[in-house]
Amino acid sequence: MVRYVQDFTEGGREQADLLGGKGANLAEMTRIGLPVPPGFTVTTQACRAYLATGSEPEGLERELAEHLAVLERAAGRRLGDPDDPLLLSVRSGARHSMPGMMETILDIGLNDASVHGLARTSGHEDFAWDSYRRLIQMFGTTVMGIDGALFAGALARRPDPGQRRLLVEDFRRIVRERTGEEFPQDPAEQLRRSVRAVFSSWNTERARVYRRREHIPEDLGTAVNVQTMVFGNLGPDSGTGVAFTRDPATGLQGVYGDYLADAQGEDVVSGARNTVPLAELERLHPECYAQLCEYMERLERHYRDLCDIEFTIERGRLWMLQTRVGKRTAEAAFRIAAQLADEGTIDWDEALDRVGGEQLARLMFPRFDTAGAGEPLAHGVPASPGAASGAVVFDSAEAARRAAAGEKVVLVRGETTPDDLPGMVAAQAVLTSRGGKTSHAAVVARGMGRVCVCGAEAVEIDVAARRFTVDGTVVAEGETVSVDGSAGAVYLGELPLVGSPVMRYFETGERQPGVVDAVARLMEHADATRRLGVRANADTPEDAERARRFGARGIGLCRTEHMFLGERRRLVEAMILAEDDSEREKALAALLPPQREDFTAMLEAMDGLPVTIRLLDPPLHEFLPDHTELAVRVASAEAAGGEPDPHDVRLLSAVERMHEHNPMLGLRGVRLGLVVPGLIALQVRAVGEAVARRLRAGGDPRVEIMVPLVDTSDELRLVRDEVDAVLAEVSREAGVEVTCPVGTMIELPRAALTADRIAAEADFFSLGTNDLTQTTWGLSRDDVEASFFSDYLERGILQDSPFETLDLQGVGRLVRIAVEEGRAARPGLKVGVCGEHGGDPESVHFFHQVGLDYVSCSPFRVPVARLEAARAAL
Ligand code: ADP
Ligand code: MG
Ligand code: MG
Repeated sequence: MVRYVQDFTEGGREQADLLGGKGANLAEMTRIGLPVPPGFTVTTQACRAYLATGSEPEGLERELAEHLAVLERAAGRRLGDPDDPLLLSVRSGARHSMPGMMETILDIGLNDASVHGLARTSGHEDFAWDSYRRLIQMFGTTVMGIDGALFAGALARRPDPGQRRLLVEDFRRIVRERTGEEFPQDPAEQLRRSVRAVFSSWNTERARVYRRREHIPEDLGTAVNVQTMVFGNLGPDSGTGVAFTRDPATGLQGVYGDYLADAQGEDVVSGARNTVPLAELERLHPECYAQLCEYMERLERHYRDLCDIEFTIERGRLWMLQTRVGKRTAEAAFRIAAQLADEGTIDWDEALDRVGGEQLARLMFPRFDTAGAGEPLAHGVPASPGAASGAVVFDSAEAARRAAAGEKVVLVRGETTPDDLPGMVAAQAVLTSRGGKTSHAAVVARGMGRVCVCGAEAVEIDVAARRFTVDGTVVAEGETVSVDGSAGAVYLGELPLVGSPVMRYFETGERQPGVVDAVARLMEHADATRRLGVRANADTPEDAERARRFGARGIGLCRTEHMFLGERRRLVEAMILAEDDSEREKALAALLPPQREDFTAMLEAMDGLPVTIRLLDPPLHEFLPDHTELAVRVASAEAAGGEPDPHDVRLLSAVERMHEHNPMLGLRGVRLGLVVPGLIALQVRAVGEAVARRLRAGGDPRVEIMVPLVDTSDELRLVRDEVDAVLAEVSREAGVEVTCPVGTMIELPRAALTADRIAAEADFFSLGTNDLTQTTWGLSRDDVEASFFSDYLERGILQDSPFETLDLQGVGRLVRIAVEEGRAARPGLKVGVCGEHGGDPESVHFFHQVGLDYVSCSPFRVPVARLEAARAAL
């Protein structure tokens, strides 16, 4: 039988889906014998039925009447009775807490007659009229939709408690004028309409927006709790308060909370009156205080977690009005989990379950001390967390120049492109006026661990004048700003920084009591628990060393691109411009020694651990100068009547020759190696010689060669043949046996779909989920943000960016096929992932489930991946 109403005495916390969080916990407190004012819960099922049809479901009215009758009998009073009225509260409470989103109505049952009854039975005239005006106010705004400011204004004109009766007159006039109806006098009607209003509050605009942001499903509905009123506003021996069983900011045990004497409901949080610290209650009401402490202990033991509590004292008697497992800061989450495990309240597995990767990431960044900082200059999207200050610069070159001179800089751009990379490397923080969490700036900054705020729309940049303006405030190049990437805020001037002890722990292994110790012990348990391996994406020996300190066991992706940049760009140009084989060979030979040095240093930093080196991937023209720039240079030389630089002319024609309409789908990856003679041999030789050197030096190099953008097994076979030939040659020359596994990236749908064939040629797979997402969706990662992405997110067509959290339905399916069919063809095939997703908590859980061997992510995300890999294995 469908039931729409359930008494507090019938349920428990396991029924949160049906009763909502608040209702389930009210029932739970009732069950364990805490003093909860009696009441019942109208279920989420009733709400869903109401929202679907627009009217109360059949049977709800009868069930409500029955439960009300039971309540009245037990209390010996009737709802709204003129002589001795029972009063009720109607409280919303959904499955997931949605603070401030939905409604509560107190003191239901008061009317022109029962207000006198309440005055007599309580012996407190002002209280009765104050309660009545509260009812009209809450009912008026919530149920009748009247602007709350009208009531607040009237209240401000009659602040004196002795004027409450007149205030009721004012309020009733407001209701009459605004709605054309009288404030309803029938208590049953008040109750019915309040329940209905709470149902409807599920679908208010702000509730919808909140749910979209928090990823709460739209179709759950809310429960409604109907509860006997208790009064904290009955004079000085009454009051109301909130309490936490531990400090939600630090996790420290103690008595935390606020208390307000002679007050009701929202008075505590509204800030209208000054609360006192909860510890004061010991002096005011020693007995209530002792009782409250005992209940708090019981609740913590029962829920085995930090609880927050709402309570009311009515004439010296303590009532519990709400509890739930409380929200907490990242620091408190780690400390509480470790404390509870130490106390034996939970085991260490459960402790892991109580913390998360994003919380850990937050703990790794320095913070600003914002006390005395004033208002932020501008707000934007918190795209990459952390805090940093520096001098404002507007382009990459200036950033690099000042950074080289030892200055700290903040790169400010409309949006960033790959050309801004050197500037982003040089800067402490990046600020853009356009784009969101998946813009180029955001993705790259997160990867590098740079602070980033994007889409700060109020920032108007004037690159020519080298300044930006926010609402008339002008900030010139060289002035200092502070960027808070965790909060998405920008401040003028330099704010003091508080370093992160957790980051210091990962960097140095230095432990100290408190949050660091909690993190350290949870990480130790995580490493003992997880099955997934964790590697890092690192291109330089410094990154490799850091990754190792952060707990990476190997490198899953070493991009060789940067080895072709900077000074060596000229050598690459020479290779591209080569007109015959001997010219090309000379250019390639010049590239060999520096590459070999780089690989040797990498292998040394990761001695004894696998290092996956990817052959050159990006289109070659990325190593050539910009087309427009070159064309302008050549044209202006000609216009000036002179001869353009012949090198420029050759470069220009090369750039034009190599132009592609879709370079990301063009001549890149394995295709490049197969059509540019000598390119693979150069890289493999550099790798092979580095391995030989390390072997001769007594090291333990474990290199793996990885081929990007493979579509067919034939491509891979051709590369493999060449690798084998080159390594055989190197072995002969060096006098040591150099071999290395050759694997492929799976980053094109075709490769995933033909994984069985490809596996026949591959020693391992590495899922390149960035390109795989791009090609599966047909979404250009570099362009999509600027065009329609935010619109899609806003309209709910996309919930997340598939470039941040792996799209399980589509891309995930391809991943599954690649893993299953690859391993069917080659049992035991090693499979890892090296896209951005390797450090994303949700995605890591998926990679664990499909049975990957490891994930690889940027060094800063390594601790996050270690933790989440363990949580996935619980
Ligand atoms: P929220 O979900 O916004 O916290 P609540 O349903 O908890 O809303 O109600 C807000 C406040 O109203 C409570 O903290 C409590 O102080 C007061 N309140 C609710 N029900 C009662 C009641 N039965 N008796 C006295 N006060 C109540
Ligand atoms: Mg509450
Ligand atoms: Mg790729």
